[in-house]
Amino acid sequence: MNYLHSYHAGNFCDVVKHICLTGLLESMMRKPTPFCYIDTHAGGGCYDLFSEFSDKTKEYENGIEKIIQHDNPPPLIKKYLECVHQVNSRLTHAKISSLRYYPGSPMLARQLLRENDRAIACELHPNEYQTLKQNFLGDYQVAIHHMDGFHGLKAFLPPAEKRGVVLIDPPYEDPDEFSRIARQLPIALKRFESGVYAIWYPIKEQSHVDTFYKTLKQSIDKPIFAMELTIYPDIPQHLNGCGMAVINPPWQFDEIIKKNLLWAWNALSINGQGKFQAEYL
Ligand code: SAM
Repeated sequence: MNYLHSYHAGNFCDVVKHICLTGLLESMMRKPTPFCYIDTHAGGGCYDLFSEFSDKTKEYENGIEKIIQHDNPPPLIKKYLECVHQVNSRLTHAKISSLRYYPGSPMLARQLLRENDRAIACELHPNEYQTLKQNFLGDYQVAIHHMDGFHGLKAFLPPAEKRGVVLIDPPYEDPDEFSRIARQLPIALKRFESGVYAIWYPIKEQSHVDTFYKTLKQSIDKPIFAMELTIYPDIPQHLNGCGMAVINPPWQFDEIIKKNLLWAWNALSINGQGKFQAEYL
């Protein structure tokens, strides 16, 4: 396990993923009944953009730094940025926060949960697990597990609340990652068929993504909404963009996210390259 998210925190892929996550959790909160958020590949939870890792790649400059500068983002992105600001204010003890810390998926989700909702986060890397545990020390609404996220799907589904969002965000170090997800999802759906599942993926080779969609369509009999945002043209073997596939998207999530991600594409695209598209598979 060589992947370390600290090198990539706050990059354009994180921004896209976390806007989608904010949209999904906001949709869940339209109903007062509690839900459970499950993060299968949680990372460390929070990242210092002044660290040597961020400094080395400066990936956040083409991500959160571009978005946070805008005056008038659409409501969902405004909500996401509020969470980023809240984390910075809390950690820097400043009333008016500047950007230093970037919340990972479990911390972003935690900012949004109500007092009856809860979160479960799995992380396999020993150091990242320790950091994650430290970041949520004493928080009774968040359970942290040193565990393979795919085993977590078996262990924690269905949640007692019978309402839930599952984020699957592996590092894609293993060339077999797309197939592993496609194999695990039908098993997870058998345990929790009404769950909302959000799967993040890199777009390096469009053919890999298309094969993934084909496999999902063949093995899953549920609505699947897929979003793709690229900021570069189709350069082979290059991280041109990323996507999110959402199984069982909540009501109106498709329309809301389309407006917000189109705005995000305009803000993130490098010289108008790449594109944003979203459709049901
Ligand atoms: N979801 C995080 C976020 O949005 O802030 C980022 C997660 S990062 C892309 C992927 C994480 O998965 C890494 O921290 C890595 O150590 C961890 N990981 C790798 N294989 C795993 C596995 N089988 N189960 C759980 N975590 C794993």
